[in-house]
Amino acid sequence: LIVFDQVVKRFGDLTVLDHLDFSVAPGERVTLIGPSGSGKTTILRLLMTLEKITEGHIWIDGEPFSHMPRGSGLVPASESYLRQKRKRIGMVFQQFNLFPNMTVRKNIMEAPVHVLGLSRDEASERAQELLDLVGLGDKIDAHPTQLSGGQQQRVAIARALAMRPEILLLDEVTSALDPELVAGVLDVLREVAETTDITMLCVTHEMGFARDVSHRVLMFDKGQIAEEGHPDQIFGDPREERTKSFLKSVL
Ligand code: ATP
Repeated sequence: LIVFDQVVKRFGDLTVLDHLDFSVAPGERVTLIGPSGSGKTTILRLLMTLEKITEGHIWIDGEPFSHMPRGSGLVPASESYLRQKRKRIGMVFQQFNLFPNMTVRKNIMEAPVHVLGLSRDEASERAQELLDLVGLGDKIDAHPTQLSGGQQQRVAIARALAMRPEILLLDEVTSALDPELVAGVLDVLREVAETTDITMLCVTHEMGFARDVSHRVLMFDKGQIAEEGHPDQIFGDPREERTKSFLKSVL
């Protein structure tokens, strides 16, 4: 589904992703771990088209994503091409980024109505279903400020799912939360993982969650994959020194 082909990302002199190759299969749930600054968030930002790659290509479903076809070759993708492509991708950030002046219902309905062209009734029905899924069915007319951080993050998950994305990107979604609110958000994501076949790419420091939910773990170091494998192997029997020392520092 997703293919990174020799992807390089530089910020000035700093090489953040260094000829990175990896792919993610449809329905696969992949967790990215690794030290701070190893490039994990940058990967998600490239997929959200918040950053442009320096070299290499990204493909989604066999179609160019970072580039677009022109004549017999590929040229850097235009803004409208990217807008079209990123409809299939949902993202939840560390900061929930809900619109504070809108109700929960409106927060969830905005993109389905304006981007997908759903009717208000359809979008409202979808909002209710998704809020039920994240355990907040009774908060549909609340404003974000009336909710706890954990509840706001669950609304942000519902909002991302309202676009029916094929791919869900999760960037340290629990790291801004008070510890007692983390479990509720992770339970919602476990539920999403179990009840949908959405492809998930997840950056997290929650190793228990990564172990339960992911099919594969990629350990990053200095913009490259230091080790990858099944979560039981990576967490139970890491082979690389870099993985061992990273896990020792976080567990
Ligand atoms: P963390 O776990 O701390 O979020 P990460 O592995 O997700 O780390 P990235 O956020 O991808 O790392 O950042 C990789 C490197 O790129 C860091 O050194 C960061 O400072 C740098 N970087 C990220 N965005 C920019 C930017 N817009 N301009 C310059 N440097 C940037």
